[in-house]
Amino acid sequence: MALRRAWLLPLLLAATAALPLLVAAKRPTLRFSNDGTFKIIQLTDLHYGSLSFRDKRTTEVQTKVLEAEKEGMGLVVFSGDMVTGFMEYVDAALDKMVGSGGNQSGWFEQQWKKVVAPVHNLSLPYCITLGNHDAQADLDGRYRFPLAPQIVQLDIDTGKHLTLTQQGPANITGASNYWLDVLASNSSAVAARIWVLDSGMKGCDGDNESWGCVAADTAQWVAETAATLPPVDTHIAYLHIPPIQVLEVWNNESTRGFKDEPSGCSQVDSGAFAALRDAGVQAIFFGHDHDNCFYGELDGVRVGYGRKTGVGNYGPPRDVARGARVVLLREGESAADAETWIRNEAGKREDDQPSDAENKVMFEQGECGTPNSWGEKLVALMG
Ligand SMILES: [Zn+2]
Repeated sequence: MALRRAWLLPLLLAATAALPLLVAAKRPTLRFSNDGTFKIIQLTDLHYGSLSFRDKRTTEVQTKVLEAEKEGMGLVVFSGDMVTGFMEYVDAALDKMVGSGGNQSGWFEQQWKKVVAPVHNLSLPYCITLGNHDAQADLDGRYRFPLAPQIVQLDIDTGKHLTLTQQGPANITGASNYWLDVLASNSSAVAARIWVLDSGMKGCDGDNESWGCVAADTAQWVAETAATLPPVDTHIAYLHIPPIQVLEVWNNESTRGFKDEPSGCSQVDSGAFAALRDAGVQAIFFGHDHDNCFYGELDGVRVGYGRKTGVGNYGPPRDVARGARVVLLREGESAADAETWIRNEAGKREDDQPSDAENKVMFEQGECGTPNSWGEKLVALMG
């Protein structure tokens, strides 16, 4: 008996220690398909909760594009502004006016459920990064602004076996900062890497007027971390707010797609673009500007927008369908050369056409727009 117990205890301890690993192992493994491709679809600016009667249509768009692309789907990336957070306060004020007390506890969770319902219905692995509007919501009636780590945690805790979202290190700016490795089709070698970064809300490295950015300390973390990871052939990044380099891409490089508004890029160069480029990242995609959808190449890095997916909030332009950007990575090939297209709300594939170089309306060099403050003012008024 004694002998038995002696070996049973270490066994039990070992089993207990292995538990977190077993839980972690439930997360989906990302792997290139047998045909050597890995498909990523980027849903951006869904804006659930921004006049909630439109949410049903956003779910329809989301479902349509995901269904059309689900074959061979590797990963769904939600690149921010899943939710129009400040609308919670508008909802609360309306509630108060009609006498329901304005208790908005759980508002964010309701929106989050709407955001992830289509990926859960179709059983597709996904991850999120935060946009400037997500963390404006109140998670549980106790907090006001910004709740980035709690939102990330909500997704990790409730996204079940489908979410790959991770909490970034607590000592750097932003919450949704992490990377995901994609394994080779026929081995356990890492063949591709996907960085998912948090570009914050407002303010960039001391410039309070700027839109948010992947902050300098986060960029440094990317550089340091990347140096410790095995190199990969295929390397891509997703974030919400365009880096300032987007101006140069449109103005100086040959591009595909269209520009229909000034960019709300971060007007401070935090060094994020250089850090990603030097880490070997070959493509950086973002959202945020609902009326811009183009990409080009700068310093060997493809830089560009997804297509606005949601029905809430403004955009895309009138003659443009809502949709999502698909990037088809190929094993052993640069993400800068990956085939990409838009799957639109009608279920049709749109190929980004060369931008009309002759009639390009240029960005004013160095001029990123600044956050328009009406939403914040409204929040203050309603608060
Ligand atoms: Zn947006």
